[in-house]
Amino acid sequence: MSDPRRITHLIDGRPWQGTAERTAPVFNPATGEQSGTVDLASAELVGAAVTSAKTAWQQWRSTSLAKRTQVLFAFRQLLHERKEEIAALVTAEHGKVLADAVGEVTRGLEVAEFACGIPHLLKGGFTENASTAVDVHSVRQPLGVVAVISPFNFPVMVPMWFVPLAIACGNAVVLKPSEKDPSATLAMAALWQEAGLPDGVLQVVCGDKEAVDALLTHEDVAAVSFVGSTPVARYVYETGTAHGKRVQALGGAKNHMLVLPDADLDLAADAAVNAGFGSAGERCMAVSALVAVEPVADELVAKITERMGGLRTGDGTRGCDMGPLVTRQHRDKVASYVSAGVEAGAKLVVDGSTGEFDADGDGFFLAPTLFDHVRPGMPVYDDEIFGPVLSVVRVASYDEGLRLINANPYGNGTSIFTNDGGAARRFQYEVEVGMVGVNVPIPVPVSYFSFGGWKNSLFGDAHAHGTEGVHFFTRGKVITSRWLDPSHGGINLGFPQND
Ligand code: NAD
Repeated sequence: MSDPRRITHLIDGRPWQGTAERTAPVFNPATGEQSGTVDLASAELVGAAVTSAKTAWQQWRSTSLAKRTQVLFAFRQLLHERKEEIAALVTAEHGKVLADAVGEVTRGLEVAEFACGIPHLLKGGFTENASTAVDVHSVRQPLGVVAVISPFNFPVMVPMWFVPLAIACGNAVVLKPSEKDPSATLAMAALWQEAGLPDGVLQVVCGDKEAVDALLTHEDVAAVSFVGSTPVARYVYETGTAHGKRVQALGGAKNHMLVLPDADLDLAADAAVNAGFGSAGERCMAVSALVAVEPVADELVAKITERMGGLRTGDGTRGCDMGPLVTRQHRDKVASYVSAGVEAGAKLVVDGSTGEFDADGDGFFLAPTLFDHVRPGMPVYDDEIFGPVLSVVRVASYDEGLRLINANPYGNGTSIFTNDGGAARRFQYEVEVGMVGVNVPIPVPVSYFSFGGWKNSLFGDAHAHGTEGVHFFTRGKVITSRWLDPSHGGINLGFPQND
C-alpha cells in the first residue's frame, strides 16, 4: 500500500504550502484503504482566504461580461474534456460506480453551460420617459465574497450548482468541499485557473466545522450556499442569517415514490431499483420509500426482488451496478437499520448486510436491502438512512398515500407512477414537495430551472441554479435619471410625482 497522498487547499490559484495543524484521513471506500490525508483549515486560514478573495473580487466585479463569459466557455470546454479524469477521482474517494460519476460531472457541466448565458441573464430593464424626461433602469450587481459548502455525495455536481453562477455574476467564491472526498472538487476548481479565472476569485478551503463556522461568522462573507444534512443545514441557516448573511441551505430528504394500481408495474419496479440503489442510495433524490397503492404491493415487491437478484455490488471501477458506502462509519450506521427495521416489525425481504462483493480488500459495502410492510414510526421510515435501503409502505388509496407524503417533515423530491393523466395532474397540484416526477423517479430539474425542496429539505427562499441562482448571487438596484436642462429648475419641497 502506498503512503496516503496529501490533499490541501487551493489558495490564490495554487496549492497551499503551509503546514496544517489538523488533518483527516480520506479513504478508497472500495478497498477500505486510506488513500489520502486532507488538511483541515483553521479559522485563521479561512479568514486569510476570504480576505484574499475580497481583493480579487474588486477586479473581477469590474471585468466585462464579454471577458467573464470567455472564462466560462473555456472552463466548460476543459471540464468536458476532463470529464472521465474527474469522474475517476469521484469514484476513488466516494465509491460510486464510474458511469454514475461521469453522470454527476455531466449534470454539473449543465450549470456551467447555463452560466455561459450570463450576459442575457443579467440584463436589466429600462423604461424611457417614466416621468417627463426621466428614465428608469434596473441592474443586478454581485454580492462580494460568497461561500459554498458542499456535502460528500456529489463532490462535483453540488459545488457546480453554485460556483459557475456565482462567478459569472461577478462574485468571488470560497468553496469548502466535504472533507470525506475533496480531490474531485479540487481538480474541478483547478480547471477554473486553467480557463483563465484570475487568482483568488475561487478559493478552496478543505475543512470541517471549524472552517464552516469561520465562513458563517466572517464579516466579509456576504452569502452562503450550503448543501448537507438537515440538522447542519438548519444550523448553517440560523447562524449565517444571524450574522447578516443571505443563506440558502439545502438539507436532507426522504423521497417517496407513489405507485398507483394502473401503473406499468415493470417500469415502476425498474425505476424503484434504479432510484433506490443507484449511488448506493447516497443521493438526496434517491427513492427511499415506495408507497404502493393496493392491490399491487405483492406483485410490485416480487418484481423488485427479482431485479435486485441481478445487481452486482463492488468496486466502482469494475463495471458493477452499485459501489460501497463512503466510510466504514456510515456503512455501519446504514447497516444498523437492517436490525432496527426487523425489531420494529417490518418484513425484511432482501437482507443486504451479508453477501459477496466484487472488490479487493475490506471495502465499506452493504448490498441492496428491501423492507416491506413499513409504517411511519419505524426508524427505517422516519429517518433519512442515506444508503441502499428501500422501504415499501402499503396504502389503501391515493388519498392515503398523499396524506403520508404530505405529513413527512421532508419535501425534497417525490414521484408518481401511473397511466392516469388526471391522477398525475392532481398529485403534482396537491403534493407538498419541491420537485415532482411523473413516471420519472429522480426528478432533478435541468440547470435552467431551479433545484430545491420544501420544508426540512431547504432553509431560505432561493433554490439552486436557474434564474433563482442568478437572483441569489446578485442584488438589484434601480436607477432613476434625468439629464438636466434649464427648464427643470425651481424649488419644490413636495414628494416627487410623475408628470
Ligand atoms: P453533512 O451535513 O454531514 O456535511 C455537509 C457539509 O457540512 C460538509 O462540508 C461538512 O464538512 C459540513 N459539516 C458537517 N457537520 C458540520 C457541523 N456540525 N457544523 C458545520 N458544518 C458541518 O452532510 P453529508 O453527510 O456530507 O451529505 C449527506 C447529506 O446531504 C444528506 O442528508 C443528503 O440528503 C444531503 N444532501 C442534500 C441535497 C439537497 O439538494 N437537498 C443534496 C445533496 C446532499
